[in-house]
Amino acid sequence: MNDRLSDYRRKRDPKRTPEPVPASTPDGAAPGRRFVIHQHHARSLHWDLRLERDGVLASFAVPRGVPRDPARNHLAVHTEDHPLEYLDFEGTIPAGEYGGGRMFVYDRGTYDTEKWRDDEVLIVLHGERVSGRYVLFQTSGKDWMIHRMEPPEPGWAPMPSGVRPMLSTAGKRLPANDAEWAFELAWAGERRLAPVSGGRAELPFRELRALGPALAPTECLLDGVVVEFGPEPVFMAFDLLWLDGKSTMDLPYSARRDLLLGLDVNGPNWQTPPHFTGGGRFAVHSPGAAKGRPTRPRKVGP
Ligand code: MN
Repeated sequence: MNDRLSDYRRKRDPKRTPEPVPASTPDGAAPGRRFVIHQHHARSLHWDLRLERDGVLASFAVPRGVPRDPARNHLAVHTEDHPLEYLDFEGTIPAGEYGGGRMFVYDRGTYDTEKWRDDEVLIVLHGERVSGRYVLFQTSGKDWMIHRMEPPEPGWAPMPSGVRPMLSTAGKRLPANDAEWAFELAWAGERRLAPVSGGRAELPFRELRALGPALAPTECLLDGVVVEFGPEPVFMAFDLLWLDGKSTMDLPYSARRDLLLGLDVNGPNWQTPPHFTGGGRFAVHSPGAAKGRPTRPRKVGP
């Protein structure tokens, strides 16, 4: 049977995958308006944009996700058409099978088609998380690009570039107004800003780059330090400078800490180290501090 789903069926064994594998393909001529974006933790994290079209889902694998910024075009690899049943599919494809890994719905909604040609598709997405006018255009074979054709959504600002970490300075005394300060340990290691976007973390060790998929779809700019505990690098994330399109640099320390803790940056090779409030003497004399280096006072509040 040679129809629009023959590639899809050929790549899958219905006995081994939880994915829908329908025996027949509807010969629907209706254009359809539904779309879904799957977040797919396959060997390499990507997002699958699927557009209902002529009874199937035209599909593109977008390694860095659908761009929010018109200044950044993202690669979109044209993949085989998927059945309409895939609009609601979530699950884990067993390791070793085609596309093995966890897949869940990142967004869904409807879309309008402004142009649909073999090498160029112009659409307007109306999703919960992703909305706006986009063009997909073929560059070579299966490789296409996706470009946002309008300004970012109101309130969304790109991650700042060229930010320098704010370095602590040595002090001989604890600050007089203790209650207004928080205290952290000063970790011996390499201070690093970690941009995390499109499921990728820009960090110097492979173990640390897994932070990108772990936080996805969250995008953020973390401030921290790479500490080597024995052979293992660990990124200690102690501050947050930008989160999902919003700068946090004007927020007080305590508010940034709350947002940072909400990200749950705790994994095999990354942690959010504690901070101490209630006065510097407490921090200096706490067991953790006794083993560490001089504490790093930071002012709390505006
Ligand atoms: Mn995929």
